Amino acid sequence: MEFIPIRSYDNYIKANLVISKLLGENINCYLKDENISTIFPVIGNAIGGIKICVAEDDVAKAKELLLQFEEEEKITCPNCGSRNVFYEVENRNVSNWILAIASWFLASYALKGKEVYHCYTCDYKFDKLSDIE
Ligand SMILES: [Zn+2]
Repeated sequence: MEFIPIRSYDNYIKANLVISKLLGENINCYLKDENISTIFPVIGNAIGGIKICVAEDDVAKAKELLLQFEEEEKITCPNCGSRNVFYEVENRNVSNWILAIASWFLASYALKGKEVYHCYTCDYKFDKLSDIE
């Protein structure tokens, strides 16, 4: 039986969450290159990350399930009900520039800007998922 890579991830937590859902739906699959990508992230990028490989017969059903999982994970905007919402670092903000410059001087990635959910339909921003309820 041949296994075909249908999706790749740079994060082993995300890859394991997705594959456990696929296994729960009786899809015959496994993670390829999980160990090398986790231990040596630079090599992981070069080889295409952690790949979900699915048995040839289950590929169509697995792709359908992946789309369904991604749709379920989308956040709904509390302001307009759109699902065109992304999690991002808030920009156009002086403090972000100060943080970026400080990070460069300290050679650190530890300093980050404020992360928010941003609805691209109505331009509403919110930082807590509890705002949704
Ligand atoms: Zn909205």
